[in-house]
Amino acid sequence: MTNGKEKRKIGKDSADVVALVSDVLNQAIGRGASDIHFEPTSRQFLVKYRLDGELQTVDELPVFLSENVITRLKVMGNLLTYRNDVPQEGRIPFDIISSDKSQHQVTDMRLAVFPTIHGQRAVIRIFYEDMGLLYLDQLGLSDYIHTALIEIAGQRQGVLLLTGPAGSGKSTTLGAILRHILTRFPGRSIVALEDPVERVIAGVTQVQITNNSDMTFPVALRSLLRQDPEVLMLGEIRDAETARIAIEAGLTGHLLMSTMHSGSPAGALLRLLEMGIEPYQVTSAISAVLNQRLIRRLCRQCTIQSEPDGHWQAIGCETCARTGFHGRVLIAELVELDGDLRNALLQKTDLDQLENLLRKRGHMTMAQDAQRLVAEGITTQQEIVKVIGKTKES
Ligand SMILES: [Zn+2]
Repeated sequence: MTNGKEKRKIGKDSADVVALVSDVLNQAIGRGASDIHFEPTSRQFLVKYRLDGELQTVDELPVFLSENVITRLKVMGNLLTYRNDVPQEGRIPFDIISSDKSQHQVTDMRLAVFPTIHGQRAVIRIFYEDMGLLYLDQLGLSDYIHTALIEIAGQRQGVLLLTGPAGSGKSTTLGAILRHILTRFPGRSIVALEDPVERVIAGVTQVQITNNSDMTFPVALRSLLRQDPEVLMLGEIRDAETARIAIEAGLTGHLLMSTMHSGSPAGALLRLLEMGIEPYQVTSAISAVLNQRLIRRLCRQCTIQSEPDGHWQAIGCETCARTGFHGRVLIAELVELDGDLRNALLQKTDLDQLENLLRKRGHMTMAQDAQRLVAEGITTQQEIVKVIGKTKES
C-alpha cells in the first residue's frame, strides 16, 4: 500500500485482518492523515485517508473483509462487537499501534462506527502532537495581520471574532493566539470553552461544552465570568444569548475570542446585529474580525520554478505521495473596527454598504492576500479558486 491501490491478497484469517488493520493505521500515521475512513459500498470496502484536508482512496478491499475489519476496530476501540445496528464511539489506545519510527507523534485516536445499508462504516480521527501551525508565526499570515493579531492578543478587553466555514482552521488560529498569550503574558488567567476540546493546551483551563447537557455555552460562560478570567476563548457563537454574554464580557475587562459562521467579516458584524445586539455594543466591544481559509501548500520537496515565466509547479515526490501538496497554510483578511466602520454600523447599514466602505478604504481581501502566496510559490491559483471561488483577483 505504498502508493495507492495495490491489490491485497488477504484471507478471512483473523491474523491477516489484525495485520491489515495495523498496517492501514500505521500507514495513515506515517503520512500524517487526520482521518481514516472505512467505507462499505455494494462492491468494495474502501479505505480512505484524509491528507491535508482531502479524502483519498488508498485501498479497495473485498467486501467480505468489511465485517472482520470493523470487528477488529471495535475490539481496539473497546466497543460492543455484537451491536451492528447502532452508532458507537470510542477511543483506540494508540500505544497498541507500533508506530516506531513515525515522524508523527499521535496523541489521541477516536473511533466512530455507523451502520449503513451496505454494512457498518468506521471513521478514525487521529490527533497528533506536532501538527505544525501551532504558533502564530507558523500560520503563514501576512505581516500586517500577524502584527495586528499580536496587538489584539495583548489587549485587556474587547472581542476578536474569527469567521469562515467549518474546517477553515479557526480553532488552529485561536490555539496559536492562546499560545502567544501564554508565552508573552505568563500569569494571565485563560479559560477556553470548547465543543469539543480539540487539543490540550498546557496553561489554559479548558472546559468541554456538550450541547445536550446542562453545560451549554451560555450557562458555562455566565458562571465563568464570576471566576475572574482575563482571557476567554469561546468555541463558537451560535445563538443570541451566547452572543450577548460574549459582548458583555468583552465590554467588562475581558479579552474574548470566538468564532462565527459567516462568509465575510462584514457578514459577521451584521449577524450580531440580527441577533439583537445593539449597534453601539457591537461597535464598542468588537476589536476586529478575521476571516480565513485553509489552503494546501505546494510540496517543498518537489516544487520547482519554471523558466522563463517564473511559474511554480510541483512535480510530485515521495513526501507528498505524488499529489504535489504537503501541509497547509492560511489565507486571511482582517477588519479592524475604526471610526468610519463604527459610524456605518451605528447607522444600521447593510452588507453592500459595509463592503463598499471597506473597498473604498483599500481593505485587503482574502483573494488579494492569497496572491502573495501564489507569487511566492507557496500555493497555486487553482487551489485558491477551489477554496474561495473565482474573484476579480483570480
Ligand atoms: Zn512532493
